[in-house]
Amino acid sequence: MGTQLRGLGADRLAEALAAIVGSEHVLIDPDRMSPFTVDWTGCFTGEARAVVFPADTGEAAAVMAACRAAGVAVLAQGGNTGLVGGSVPARAAGPGPGPGDTVIASTRRMKGMGPVDVLTGQVEVGAGVTIAELQRHASSAGWHYGVDLASRDSATVGGTIATNAGGLRVCAFGTTRHQVESVESVLADGRVLPLRPDLIKDNTGYRLDGLMVGSEGTLGLITRARLRLGCPPGPSTVALISVPDWSEAFDIVRWVRRRSTRLLAAEIIAQSGVRLVCEMADLPWPVDHTDRPFLLLVESEGSEPDLPAEVDAVIGVDPGDRRRLWRYRELMSEAVAVGLAGDGRVHKLDVSLPSAQMPRFPAELVEALGSGTGPAEPAASGVERWTFFGHLADGNIHLAFAGAELDRNALDERVLTLVAVHGGSISGEHGIGRAKRPWLHLSRTAEEIATMRAVKRALDPTGQLAPGVLLPEG
Ligand SMILES: Cc1cc2nc3c(=O)[nH]c(=O)nc-3n(C[C@H](O)[C@H](O)[C@H](O)COP(=O)(O)OP(=O)(O)OC[C@H]3O[C@@H](n4cnc5c(N)ncnc54)[C@H](O)[C@@H]3O)c2cc1C
Repeated sequence: MGTQLRGLGADRLAEALAAIVGSEHVLIDPDRMSPFTVDWTGCFTGEARAVVFPADTGEAAAVMAACRAAGVAVLAQGGNTGLVGGSVPARAAGPGPGPGDTVIASTRRMKGMGPVDVLTGQVEVGAGVTIAELQRHASSAGWHYGVDLASRDSATVGGTIATNAGGLRVCAFGTTRHQVESVESVLADGRVLPLRPDLIKDNTGYRLDGLMVGSEGTLGLITRARLRLGCPPGPSTVALISVPDWSEAFDIVRWVRRRSTRLLAAEIIAQSGVRLVCEMADLPWPVDHTDRPFLLLVESEGSEPDLPAEVDAVIGVDPGDRRRLWRYRELMSEAVAVGLAGDGRVHKLDVSLPSAQMPRFPAELVEALGSGTGPAEPAASGVERWTFFGHLADGNIHLAFAGAELDRNALDERVLTLVAVHGGSISGEHGIGRAKRPWLHLSRTAEEIATMRAVKRALDPTGQLAPGVLLPEG
């Protein structure tokens, strides 16, 4: 990190942090901090007093205690790939521990990876290990880590636990929550909640570390985790299929699910999104039909394609072909950022719906947006262009909107209310962060929110951790 702490005499906290982690692991220069104070979408920016890189749990605990003594907030950051603004502090909002007076605690130096326990299939890793590093570590020992997402090269174990990330393989392996055996974390006052003993069975009361899953940095800084690995999937086949509507897409997915082969992924992309990918990456149009509005990607185990006879699909069996077909889906987030909005700042929503409601959702969404024709057409709330893609088998849709006069609030209210009316969730997998805070009540009851506040008060009574994230104001 190579920071020079010139001028630090003026800042006792930075000196204290440097004494804990070494001056080369503290940033205070705004230019050098800027990669850590702007999020991946470019929509959320903020200010930090310092960025600090503890190497281990002991250093993290001391950092937390020093910040508490200084009355300064702490925001945990992993790979900074989060999409709801939770990974960066807000702009200065006055004195006192709050968004404007925040230290970012980055886990990027917490890179330890233990050996895989071949009996239990478990592994202990540091919070800063990326998902790609964990996947490689697991596979070199003949095991497989079930969570996979396009941000795998940057997204970390700690960040994916804190957001309970889903990703591309949920229909086969579950979300991050399903992989977590135990979490070690540092609380706001510097105390450590340790990894639970390495026992298959241990029924001794509340599972406190379970609270950290999906907590988005508001309850503690995750420093280590013990994760469950599985058997690697066998050879697989990827099929790209253009479909006229979601009912047909669901019929195909149901058909594959009924077979003995395991469904590994079922992803949907609006045609307008495929166009953005083709433009950005200079890829050919992937399927014969150009008139059907959706592209379905199905990956299933087995070295032969196993699809209904009448389905016309482009098939990839070799690893190279499978990767080539996956690019149309994996490049979506980037293509949307590059192609949908001139300045790259796209407004994103990530919603999930009960599967029975899914086939009707695209048409209802178009109606709610005030556009009768579909993605890429002008719509209400200042939306000029929009598209969507998502994890069809999980009922999880990612919506992306752009427009010079976009009224984000009005748009969110319209779309998220529609989702709530259908019994869906305002966040399928990205979390609440700063972006969805005002809308939490659409997915959680007043009693649930009150209980969450009570848990927050119990673990972080002074509100030192991640101010402005997850829980609504008040
Ligand atoms: C191209 C792209 C594709 C993506 N695809 C998916 C996808 O398919 N599924 C999905 O779920 N998400 C996806 N995401 C979103 C993102 O990658 C996930 O939310 C991921 O879990 C964030 O991990 P991170 O390490 O980058 O965390 P960050 O972005 O650094 O932080 C995210 C949140 O977690 C908290 N946090 C981070 N580390 C810790 C820690 N050690 N302790 C406590 N709190 C912590 C932060 O305070 C913040 O609130 C995608 C993002 C991109 C850019």
